Amino acid sequence: MIDKNLRNINYMRISVTDLCNLRCTYCMPVQGANLLRKDEILSFEEILKVVKHGVGLGINKIRLTGGEPLVRKGIETLTKRIAELDGVNDIAMTTNGTFLKKFARTLKENGLSRFNVSLDTLRPDRFDEITRGGSLRHVLDGIEEVLDAGFQGTKINVVVIRGKNDDEIHDFVRYIFERRIELRFIELMASGWKNMVDEERFVPASEIKQQVEKIGELTPVKQRIGGGPATIYKIKGALGSLGFISAVSQPFCDKCNRVRLTSDGMLRSCLLSGGEVNVKEILRSDILDRTDLAEQLTNAFVQVTMMKPVIHSGRNSAVMHQIGG
Ligand code: SAM
Ligand code: SF4
Repeated sequence: MIDKNLRNINYMRISVTDLCNLRCTYCMPVQGANLLRKDEILSFEEILKVVKHGVGLGINKIRLTGGEPLVRKGIETLTKRIAELDGVNDIAMTTNGTFLKKFARTLKENGLSRFNVSLDTLRPDRFDEITRGGSLRHVLDGIEEVLDAGFQGTKINVVVIRGKNDDEIHDFVRYIFERRIELRFIELMASGWKNMVDEERFVPASEIKQQVEKIGELTPVKQRIGGGPATIYKIKGALGSLGFISAVSQPFCDKCNRVRLTSDGMLRSCLLSGGEVNVKEILRSDILDRTDLAEQLTNAFVQVTMMKPVIHSGRNSAVMHQIGG
């Protein structure tokens, strides 16, 4: 599918649940989320119908996210069924890493290509504070399990927050010296319940890069597993690589190739702006004829592709745990 700005839309991010075992301060309100009822969430069969249809229209890359995808019961089966579809070349998962020790090997056997693990601090007390009760040990052990299981192209996402973890940039760079991991420093975005970028906490990617450059010279990398919006660099002596995602200060919308499927069945054109189409309504309507269903799903994909904004509205908010960051 080619959109009106000649971007080839071949990537679908699927939020499989709005539930999460953590409540990161920048993602969820302190009291937790307004959770959806079970019947409001797409079933695996419904997700598969949308994915199969998308694949027929040129989607070949899938990412499972959430909420926390590993808290959705049966996620390993959904992963296998998507990985087995003809036309899917790549299926990755974004996770907070808490349950990786349990799931990494099964997911490898079931065809998962890669993990992105979110990890904002290497200090246990801060981890507990940022995630409101999570265990850093579980995540670090989970990452080792992923590497031992033989996954390639593992990424770690660090949201940099002024006054919280911006003094750990050196520690993170040290962490990838001995691990074949791609580390990505991410700018803090506005979240749905706060509505605005927290300017006091926001650290621009350019400033993070300047700090990293004090540690060592950065050489840009061309070919990478899984691609993505970050500009990636090698730093002398390190097994891993690192990059910067400047979604707020320098949006990379011109390279955006994604559509998103939310856990409650909305096909969305963009994380932050644009529009959406309710595919759950289509899937659950009394369309008896398969041809009608196919036609309506095609229309939904075409509509959403055409709704993709040229550039997102930068400092808008998104309900990350529902849409999937
Ligand atoms: N629970 C999984 C996780 O944490 O990786 C997947 C869902 S989470 C919403 C996906 C990503 O969104 C995480 O890497 C998280 O750090 C990022 N995220 C959430 N809120 C954010 C915000 N306000 N600014 C920047 N990134 C955010
Ligand atoms: Fe959960 Fe991920 Fe949001 Fe943290 S960022 S609260 S782990 S969904």
